[in-house]
Amino acid sequence: MNATTGKNATPVTVIGLGLMGAALASALLDRDHPTTVWNRSPQKAGPLAARGARVAATPAEAVAASDLVLACVLDYDALRTVLGPVAEAGGLAGKALVNLTSGAPEQAEEMARWAASHGADYLDGGIMTTPPGVGSPEMMFLYSGSEAVFEAHRATLAALGDPLHLGTEPGLASLYDSALLGLMWAAFTGWLHGTALVTSQGTSAEAFTQVALRWLNGAVNVFLSTYAPQVDAGKYPGDDATVDVQIAAIDHLIHAAKARGIDNGLPELLKATMERTAAAGHGGDSYASVIEVLRGTTPK
Ligand code: NAP
Repeated sequence: MNATTGKNATPVTVIGLGLMGAALASALLDRDHPTTVWNRSPQKAGPLAARGARVAATPAEAVAASDLVLACVLDYDALRTVLGPVAEAGGLAGKALVNLTSGAPEQAEEMARWAASHGADYLDGGIMTTPPGVGSPEMMFLYSGSEAVFEAHRATLAALGDPLHLGTEPGLASLYDSALLGLMWAAFTGWLHGTALVTSQGTSAEAFTQVALRWLNGAVNVFLSTYAPQVDAGKYPGDDATVDVQIAAIDHLIHAAKARGIDNGLPELLKATMERTAAAGHGGDSYASVIEVLRGTTPK
């Protein structure tokens, strides 16, 4: 059977047709997967039905239609509300449930136990894009949990984005998802702080961002790749730039932003964290030693 495209492609059910669920169903239809959909508010299925999706009247009918069931609703409570009665009636037995709803690692672990107790094989997922990126092989879809489900359906999951299996512990995808979003928010806010600083003197955000992207893609990328093995080794040789030097440098940023009336909450927080790192004896070490403060392994 050809899982990836054509009329023999694997049938898939999609539960939840919000912005993300609709994008998932649409990407599956793009690859000619026979796609069954269900949503609490049925009108959202209209555009997908017009493209050939089968609209199920109930969650039970939707789950019965395919061995592979993708779920993407607001949160885990909503998913249990939808699938609870299906499971109680035995409808999940033998199904591969792939849950792309965002949640905490503990919720994923609990959902995996719950699915297993109802005879379903469970894969948890984290979607590392917004709906317009769904279907692009550039976008990562993180999975954890059943390796059997992942391997059996890898080609189908590739219709959504590049599928990465992180391990069999169900909470891993959610853990990575949270870590990567934290990285994104910190990067967004650092970029916007810098943008506020530079645009205060007439430069456009677009002009600054061209330079910022070169900085991120080139130098910062190299710094992270240098520091990761230091974190793994627990040794932080200060042979490129020391924490003490970074503390002196961040004072320049704080001064320049203050002089232009720009909020300094983020750099003040970063400086305080660096100072705690130096106070713990890492002033002569690399920036990677900040992990000791974040982990709480240094005195407060
Ligand atoms: P959304 O547009 O607000 O859609 C929410 C979906 O959940 C709708 O299908 C909604 O049904 C359903 N729902 C909410 N409460 C429900 C309940 N009690 N019972 C049954 N269904 C319920 O949100 P979304 O953007 O599609 O996000 C869905 C999930 O994907 C979330 O966990 C989100 O964190 C995750 N995600 C989203 C993005 C993104 O960029 N949008 C990216 C990564 C991950 P109705 O249509 O009936 O309201």
